[in-house]
Amino acid sequence: MATPTKNQEKPRNVLVTGAARGIGRAIALRLAEDGHNVAVNDVSANRDALQGLVGEIRDQGRRSSAAIADVSQQGEVEDMVTQTVADLGSLDVMIANAGIAHVQSLLELDADDWDKVMSVNLRGVFLCYQTAAKQMIKQGNGGKIIGAASIVAYRPFALLGPYSASKWGVRGLTQAAAMEWARHGITVNAYCPGIVGTDMWELIDEKLAAEEGWQKGEALKTYSGAIALGRVSVPEDVASYVSYLASPDSDYMTGQSVMIDGGIQFS
Ligand code: NAD
Repeated sequence: MATPTKNQEKPRNVLVTGAARGIGRAIALRLAEDGHNVAVNDVSANRDALQGLVGEIRDQGRRSSAAIADVSQQGEVEDMVTQTVADLGSLDVMIANAGIAHVQSLLELDADDWDKVMSVNLRGVFLCYQTAAKQMIKQGNGGKIIGAASIVAYRPFALLGPYSASKWGVRGLTQAAAMEWARHGITVNAYCPGIVGTDMWELIDEKLAAEEGWQKGEALKTYSGAIALGRVSVPEDVASYVSYLASPDSDYMTGQSVMIDGGIQFS
């Protein structure tokens, strides 16, 4: 059993998308440690990893279940929320974490690749926000909606055009949703990681190297040079901040997209 923390005062029922690995997985485990029940989502290709995570959460003494869904598909998102409510009893905190990256120059970018990034990173976050908000309004107890933006929502990276635009969109969506749903007691905030050592950055590093003619690892090293705190982030750095956003300590905060990047970009 995890050591009790202040955030255990009010256990909540949470859903985390894109939780089979990386930042989503770390968030799910941290929120379970905080005392919450945690349902986890990912695409069907990651079913086994997701089931393993459910086992780890249950080992902490929390309720957990897996909901396979592609967050860009409205029907699948609705089924995911319905299943989570059936399994856990309610939905109090939604964490729209799932996202994908695509590295290419804007001049060479195919419009279908633009659509693919937008469909997961922006349409997917919108669908998760909207479906969760409808459920929370029905429950009548407010709630917390949290989305994955990025440092690129403040300062885009070259060769990550659609990704940067999608995350900038998440920041705008988060502000609009916070305005519309405050009357229902729902807060909406986003987290903006910098450079986190996950599979996503492995892919970005590899693709940037191919685009720029660099060696493997060179892109990560180049971008990491700008981190004031002198190290690449780990998923747990982001999970600590999401723990705060999911807790009563953040009840007076809404519409914010906060950078948790070790000091690359200052707002
Ligand atoms: P990751 O690629 O390691 O993990 C993302 C997870 O989302 C994967 O398990 C993947 O299967 C899942 N996913 C992808 N498309 C999905 C879909 N349509 N439906 C459901 N699940 C889907 O990425 P990560 O580094 O853990 O990033 C998590 C979030 O944080 C993303 O939104 C990402 O854009 C954002 N972010 C990451 C970084 C970073 O440096 N890694 C920086 C800023 C923001």
